[in-house]
Amino acid sequence: MRPDSLSPLFAGIRTLGGVGPRLETAFGRLLRPLDADAGPRVIDLLFHLPVGLLDRTARPKIAEATPNELATLEVTVTRHKAPPRGRRLPYRIFCEDSTGEIELIFFRGDKSYLERLLPVGERRFISGRIDAYDGRLQMAHPDHVVGEDDLDSLPLIEPIYPLTAGISQKVLLKTLAQALAKVPDLAEWQDQAWFNSKRWSNFADSLRTAHTPQNAADVLPEAPARQRLAFDELLANQLALSLVRGRLRRIAGRAIVGDGSLRKKIVDTLPFALTSSQSQALGEIDADLREPQRMLRLLQGDVGSGKTIVALLAMASAVEAGHQAALMAPTEVLARQHLASFQSIAEAAGVRIALLTGRERGRERKRVLDALAGGDIDMLIGTHALFSDDVVFKDLAFVVIDEQHRFGVHQRLALQAKGSGSGTDVLIMTATPIPRTLVLTAYGDMDVSQLREKPAGRQPVLTRAIPTGRIGDVIGRLEKALESGAQAYWVCPLIEESEVLDISAAQDRYADLQKRFGERVGLVHGKLSSAQKDDVMAAFAAGELSILVATTVIEVGVDVRNATIMVIEHSERFGLAQLHQLRGRVGRGSDQSACILLYKAPLGETARARIEILRESDDGFLIAEEDLRLRGGGEVLGVRQSGLPTFRLASLPEHQNLLDAAHDDAQLILANDRDLTSVRGEALRVLLYLFARDEATRLLRAG
Ligand code: ADP
Ligand code: MG
Repeated sequence: MRPDSLSPLFAGIRTLGGVGPRLETAFGRLLRPLDADAGPRVIDLLFHLPVGLLDRTARPKIAEATPNELATLEVTVTRHKAPPRGRRLPYRIFCEDSTGEIELIFFRGDKSYLERLLPVGERRFISGRIDAYDGRLQMAHPDHVVGEDDLDSLPLIEPIYPLTAGISQKVLLKTLAQALAKVPDLAEWQDQAWFNSKRWSNFADSLRTAHTPQNAADVLPEAPARQRLAFDELLANQLALSLVRGRLRRIAGRAIVGDGSLRKKIVDTLPFALTSSQSQALGEIDADLREPQRMLRLLQGDVGSGKTIVALLAMASAVEAGHQAALMAPTEVLARQHLASFQSIAEAAGVRIALLTGRERGRERKRVLDALAGGDIDMLIGTHALFSDDVVFKDLAFVVIDEQHRFGVHQRLALQAKGSGSGTDVLIMTATPIPRTLVLTAYGDMDVSQLREKPAGRQPVLTRAIPTGRIGDVIGRLEKALESGAQAYWVCPLIEESEVLDISAAQDRYADLQKRFGERVGLVHGKLSSAQKDDVMAAFAAGELSILVATTVIEVGVDVRNATIMVIEHSERFGLAQLHQLRGRVGRGSDQSACILLYKAPLGETARARIEILRESDDGFLIAEEDLRLRGGGEVLGVRQSGLPTFRLASLPEHQNLLDAAHDDAQLILANDRDLTSVRGEALRVLLYLFARDEATRLLRAG
C-alpha cells in the first residue's frame, strides 16, 4: 500500500484550488500522466519541470538598453498618446529617465486602464523585451508594470514551462505553487556517503529548486537539483527492475540439455542456412539453458532478422530434454502466424504443437488444455490467454515472449509462475532495436543477444520522402504497381495520441482510396475486435486485398511477402525507430520494395535529419542510437508504444552516468537488504511508490 505521506501527491489535480474539469482536461493533455485512466495528479504537475527561464535582472538605463533583450527599466511616465478615433494605431505611452526616452506600445490598449496603470508624472518599473524601431526605443506590451512599492512582486527570474492550449504560464505557476506546498519531507533514501559527496539537497528542496531556477545553468541537466531528481527516478527504475530480476533468480532454474536430435531435423528441413548471428544467439541461449540458474535473456533483432527460427530451435532443445515450451505473442494475428510458420516444420520433426488464444473456446479449448496437462503437447503457441488460471502445463520449462513490449512486467511473471516447481527459463524477443544505453532502463541487467545480420538475399528497401502535396503522383504510381500484382500498406499516424482522431483520419483515407480502388482496399485500426482485425489481415495476406490502410496497429510482426509498398502519411510525426519498424513490413521477399514517406512541408530540422538517416541506413541498431541522439531526452510520438519507460525527470543520454550509478546502487542495496526492511530500505520503498513502481513493491515480503 502506498504510504499515507504520499497521498496528497497522488491525489487528482482537482484537489488544487482553481482547477475544475476544464483545466483538468487541459492538464491531462499537458502532463500526459503515467496512469492515463486516473487523470492528471498532483505529482504529474510536480514532475513537469521548466525548460528555460526569463531573466529580467538586467536593469539598464534607457540609453544602455539593448534591443531584443529583456530588461527592467525604472522610468517616469511623461505623456500618453491615444490613437485618433477609428484609426487602428496603437496606444502609445512615453517614458523617460535621465538618459533617454522609450515608447510603450499597446495594441488595442484600453485608455482608462492604461491611465490607471501608468499615470503621467509617476515613477514605474517596467519589464519586457526592448525593441528598436526607426531609431527609437520601444517596448510592446510590457510583461510587468509596477510602482516602487510593489517592486518585490516583479519576478526578476521566471521559469518557462511547456504549455498547452487552455493553460497559461500564470495558471500553471499558480497551480504549481499549491502543488509544491504539498510536498512532504521524506526520509532520505539515497546512500548517505553518495549524497554527501554530491552535495545535493533533499528531495523536497530539490523539487522546489528545480522549479525556481535562478540562472540558465539551473535548467540544464547537470544542475544539482535536476541531477538529484534524475538519479531518484533512475534509482526507482533500476531498483524495480532488480527486484523483478532478483525474484526470478531466487527461484532456482534447472539445467536443460537437449540431445540435438530435434534441432537437427528442423534445421535439415529449412530451405536456408542459419546466419552466423543466428547461430551465435542460439549458442548463447543453449549455454543459458544448460546452466542450473534461470535464464532471462533478451533477443534483439530487427524485423525480418530471423528471430522466429531462433525461438523455434531453442524451444526444440527444451522438448528434446522432455519438457514443454511455450511461445507467447502479443496479438492473435501474430500467434497464428507463428503457428503457421512452425507447424509444418515442427510436425515434420515429430513435435506436437498447438495454439491457444482467446478464440479457442468450448470443446476445442478443453481438448488443448487436456492435452497440455497430459503432456501430449510439446509446444504451445498463444496470446496472453496462456495466463488464464485454467491453463496448466505438465512440465513447462521454457517460455519465449515475442515482442514483449506489449506485455507488462507482472504478466511476464505470471507466465513464469506456470513453470512447474522450478523456475522456467525465459527468452524475450523484441524487434524494437533498443539502444544499448536504454536496455538497462527497460530490462535491467538482462543478458542480451543481438541479430545484427540480415538473412541473405534481402534487397534494401528504396526509401523516398515526398511532400503530401504530391500525394496524387504517389497514388498514380501505386495504381500501376497494383496492376502488376503488388500489395501495399498505407499507414496513417497517431494524431496527438488521440485514438479517436487517429482512427477517423484512417477512415477518411480508406474512403478516399476506396473511391479509386474499390473493394481491393481494407482497413484495420485499434478499435476493431481482434476477430475483425484478423479477418482483414487474413484477406490481405491471401491477396484478396491490395491495399491495407492501417493505423500503427500493423507495427508489430505481420509478415506478408507479397507486400512491397509501404506508404506512411505524416511521416514527420513518427519517431525514427517507429518508421524503421514500419518500413520493415516490406522488403521481406525477393522483389524490390519501396517505402514512401509522405510529409507535410516544410520539414523541421529534426524531421529532415530523421528521414535522411532512414534513407541512408537499414541497421535498426544504428537507427535507434541516432533516434536517441536526435530526440535527446525529449518526448516523441510513439515512445510510449515502444514500451520503453518514459522518464520525466531524467533524460538520456545526458544522465547516462547517473543511470550507471543507479544501477550499481540498486545491486548493492538488494544484496544487503533484499526485502528493503532496513531504515534506508523503508525510505526506498517510498521512492518506489513515488515513481509509481508499485508493481515492484508487490515483490517484497511484507516489511
Ligand atoms: P523476425 O521475427 O525477426 O521479424 P522472422 O523470423 O519472421 O523475422 O524471419 C523473417 C523471414 O526470414 C522468415 O520468412 C524466415 O523464414 C526467413 N529467414 C529466417 N532466417 C533466415 C536465414 N538464415 N536465411 C534466409 N531466410 C531466413
Ligand atoms: Mg517476428
